[in-house]
Amino acid sequence: MAEKKLGAKDLARFRVEDGRGFRLAEHDPGETHGLKSKDEAQELLAGGVQALARYQERLAAQDRWSLLVVFQAMDAAGKDGTIEHVMSGVNPAGVHVTSFKAPSEEELDHDWMWRHWKALPERGRIGIFNRSHYEEVLVVRVHEQLLAAQKIPRELVGKKVFEERLQDIANFESFLARNGTRVLKFFLNVSKAEQKKRFLERIDQPDKNWKFAVGDVRERAHWDAYQSAYEDAIRRTAAPHAPWYVVPADKKWFTRLVVAAAIEAELESLDLSLPPATPEREAALRAARAELEREG
Ligand code: ATP
Ligand code: MG
Repeated sequence: MAEKKLGAKDLARFRVEDGRGFRLAEHDPGETHGLKSKDEAQELLAGGVQALARYQERLAAQDRWSLLVVFQAMDAAGKDGTIEHVMSGVNPAGVHVTSFKAPSEEELDHDWMWRHWKALPERGRIGIFNRSHYEEVLVVRVHEQLLAAQKIPRELVGKKVFEERLQDIANFESFLARNGTRVLKFFLNVSKAEQKKRFLERIDQPDKNWKFAVGDVRERAHWDAYQSAYEDAIRRTAAPHAPWYVVPADKKWFTRLVVAAAIEAELESLDLSLPPATPEREAALRAARAELEREG
């Protein structure tokens, strides 16, 4: 490939900002955009990682925007490794990763968005959701008994409950966008065959055993239900201010490259220039300098 990085044009293939008519089946988990190997991608990825570090510094210095990055995927699609690699150059103080598991008793005593609100990034920071509010229309949709555990007054839970939740999510994300939080959502699209291969590796290689949860195989049995829940979620919540990226995830090196490039492109699109110094500020700086010099 001739370009030095994946640009907006290359990324358009994976970016969904209008969900109407979106079909997951049109996205190939094995695609690598003409790149043939990890080695070929190495330099591109390194460039992306460095660019993120630079932009993050500006984001913090400007202290106006924040960025929320959501990762959703089937098990073993590579969420953790992607977060680790893509963020490897960024100052840890500027990034906060929250992993969302099954809700606790305390969390179930609140509405389902509560814990997500609390974890949103402050201005100037990048927040990463490793799983997210989307689980409420994914795992909870696939296993409806989870809904019953949520203590919502019965008469409020009707046939359209997931449609309503998707609307609430879209509204939540519009709200964030209007208040200075950019929202980027990544679906790491792994194939069923590749997931099986990764599960077998986790079982067979002692140093990977810890990554394997027996329950993951049970979830795999609901593969089709998950795929259609993902498709519907993307259809109803993709927007220009909160796009989804459907990222091919059968080749981990390619996943990382796309994610890094997409975050880079998003930060690049923000005006991260610093506010010009005011005369008062300049005078204060001169006075501070003079005071330091008087120390001798
Ligand atoms: P890993 O790659 O380490 O397995 P993971 O994200 O799968 O990462 P786990 O601790 O294995 O982490 O799983 C978290 C589980 O919590 C998932 O099965 C997910 O579906 C579940 N979960 C997340 N949010 C909710 C929710 N709102 N309601 C019910 N279950 C949830
Ligand atoms: Mg898991």
